[in-house]
Amino acid sequence: MNRKYRKTVIAGNWKMNKLASEVKPFVEELRGMMPKTKSCETVLCVPYPLIPAASKAIRDSRLAYGAQDVSVHDSGAYTGEVAAPMLADLGVKYCIVGHSERREYHAETDAMVNTKAKNLLAAGITPIICVGESLDQREKGLTMEYVDYQVKAALAGIEAKDVKKCIIAYEPIWAIGTGRTATAEQAEEVCCEIRSVIRGMYDARTARAVSILYGGSMNAKNCDELLAQPDIDGGLIGGASLKPQDFARIICGTALEEPWIR
Ligand code: PEP
Repeated sequence: MNRKYRKTVIAGNWKMNKLASEVKPFVEELRGMMPKTKSCETVLCVPYPLIPAASKAIRDSRLAYGAQDVSVHDSGAYTGEVAAPMLADLGVKYCIVGHSERREYHAETDAMVNTKAKNLLAAGITPIICVGESLDQREKGLTMEYVDYQVKAALAGIEAKDVKKCIIAYEPIWAIGTGRTATAEQAEEVCCEIRSVIRGMYDARTARAVSILYGGSMNAKNCDELLAQPDIDGGLIGGASLKPQDFARIICGTALEEPWIR
């Protein structure tokens, strides 16, 4: 983490889990375990139908809520799609794009990720842009090449002032939902590479202002080591964000001044 130049962000990705009625009890339990002072931006990225419940439950708290996807279109005859202005209208401040599950199961391309990021920025929403290699790519030594390509494609045509508003999440596909976490060294190496790609595309000031998160089986046990890395500015958390105690523990991991009571 580097709080001097950029935001620390812990974002939960609930994926297709929980019901609207479960949001309030979750938020109440989580609030009771949060650090006393705000140590990071905490976001709950919930399924679309849960957004109104999240907005209500989170009111007057230090939490924000987000979505998990957005349409490439802004309006029109696109049955089933949800546009960025609609999310903004609901008070959404963050939205995940390019998650590997959407790339794999919904044929989301790098060009679509780029369009979605631009649509979100135009609507005043922070895109959380996911990138990451497969196990096959890692084993073939292609991690850096592939992640560099994904970052460049996702940010193509986005101005420096807007890139500073984006969040990049490095999520190695082999670590998502598998319980197999990247080591702190592996995660830092790629997050540092992502920052250097941004530096090459823009400049050092821009690169140091972008928050880069790690995601992939981050949990209450391994979060401290990952969050201690200089280029890891937080986490995108799947499974562990569904349990208030585990999610709170990760949030507390960003509260350097407040020792976690074990
Ligand atoms: C994710 O889906 O973004 C994720 C990081 O999941 P998990 O933490 O369960 O690996």
